[in-house]
Amino acid sequence: MSDPEAFLAAAAELLGTRGLTRDPELIEPWLTDWRGRYTGRALALASPASTAEVSALMGLSARFGIPVVPQGGNSGMSGGATPDQSGDAIVLSLRRMNAIRRLDAQAREATCEAGVILQTLHEAAAAEGLRFPLTLGGKGSATIGGLISTNAGGTQVLRHGSMRAQVLGIEAVLADGAVFDALVPLKKDNRGFDLKQLLIGSEGTLGIVTAATLRLLPALADRAVLWAGLGSVEDTRALLLHAESRAGSALEGFEIMPRHSLEAVLAHVKGSRSPLQGAHEWNALIELAADSEGAAALPALAQDLLESAFEAGLVEDATIAANEAQAEQFWLLRDEIAPAERALGPAMQHDVSVPVAKMAEFVAAAVPQVEQRFPGTRAVAFGHLGDGNVHFHVLAPSGAIRGQWEEAEGKSISAYVHDLVTRWGGSISAEHGIGQLKRDELARLGDPVQLAIMRRIKEALDPHGLLNPGKLVP
Ligand SMILES: Cc1cc2nc3c(=O)[nH]c(=O)nc-3n(C[C@H](O)[C@H](O)[C@H](O)COP(=O)(O)OP(=O)(O)OC[C@H]3O[C@@H](n4cnc5c(N)ncnc54)[C@H](O)[C@@H]3O)c2cc1C
Repeated sequence: MSDPEAFLAAAAELLGTRGLTRDPELIEPWLTDWRGRYTGRALALASPASTAEVSALMGLSARFGIPVVPQGGNSGMSGGATPDQSGDAIVLSLRRMNAIRRLDAQAREATCEAGVILQTLHEAAAAEGLRFPLTLGGKGSATIGGLISTNAGGTQVLRHGSMRAQVLGIEAVLADGAVFDALVPLKKDNRGFDLKQLLIGSEGTLGIVTAATLRLLPALADRAVLWAGLGSVEDTRALLLHAESRAGSALEGFEIMPRHSLEAVLAHVKGSRSPLQGAHEWNALIELAADSEGAAALPALAQDLLESAFEAGLVEDATIAANEAQAEQFWLLRDEIAPAERALGPAMQHDVSVPVAKMAEFVAAAVPQVEQRFPGTRAVAFGHLGDGNVHFHVLAPSGAIRGQWEEAEGKSISAYVHDLVTRWGGSISAEHGIGQLKRDELARLGDPVQLAIMRRIKEALDPHGLLNPGKLVP
């Protein structure tokens, strides 16, 4: 049975005043998710400073029956780090655990505590002539623990894989307080189930990630950023295949956006300009990158890619950023799509994937279907074509009132998009996780065998359902 007062007294003794607060003003900023969709209540905010403290705290949570909602930078997109309205749970913030325990430049590894912010890791790696090959728009807030727990993606997955591919070792505290220590990076280890992979992407429902050993790569010495205008989404797929064969391992990123998204950004960002003269139905942003060994060949590689794409009739127009400042401007046009769309009015956002080879076909089919089914809306798909992952946004008809429109139409629009994606053999969550946002949809559309296995694993690792209740596992 749950005993909140006994728990709070024991937790206060364990963590002291820095580690535990019940002050509503201090807790309040952490009770609403990044997108402002969910607001919950919490018994307290716990901020342990060490793995030992997390372990002891989880022991108390198990003993007194107190649910725990793990939280990193609170930048997640699915409401996974927000407690429910009951006020029964504590928020367990990992933000005080922000030490980089070890950075081994020779072995190209960093062991970071869960609360290390992604940007901080980038800076620490750069200081050693290295880089961490994962980045995303929320890098100033997202923590290593959150990135692992959501198996985050971003713009470099094409070449380097998602967070799962960067994790060499994990330390985690389980629901009963036991510490699972698999931090030592072993390239080969066949002692049975890979439990660290189980924790990655589990959104705080199976354990609290307290630290991880991550792989680093040599720093980039140079990059070439290209912008291409194309006639159709199918052409963007052809250009991707062409870029893969021409640029090989130098291909670092390949993002697409339709004309509407670019125009929205140009209207939204003061002083921004289209990289190309005319308007094109589709645009592709391509980044080639190399470390010091490959840097000298990069300009010729970019030029070759551009010219051969023209010769093959793949692009209507294209250009290479003349310098780093222009390369940044090209990326800004990509990064500002979501805010620019938000300024236009309400929208339903979907983060979906289908097999890479089918993505262009999917977009070409799905956009008109959605617009026909929901008259007055505009469907736009942009993002990581090379990963088979687009952000599929359905923008409201003009004049729609924010809040009211989502309330009235949102559910049926999302269900329609998710049904389409499922029919195409895809996923309703490519990189943002399930959280509380898509839990019902996962229950509705998930493979029953997979769901049954997930429930059994959850039951085995968290028999009392205290770890992030109401999230992910339907
Ligand atoms: C501007 C912007 C752009 C973004 N772009 C991308 C993108 O391109 N690709 C992408 O994949 N994501 C993107 N995101 C989403 C977000 O940055 C990631 O989901 C990130 O991984 C969340 O990290 P966090 O530390 O903020 O986690 P939180 O939001 O605090 O938590 C996310 C989930 O992980 C759990 N959790 C957090 N820490 C731990 C821990 N230590 N142990 C166990 N569970 C934990 C929480 O309970 C929750 O379920 C973006 C976010 C923003 C704001």
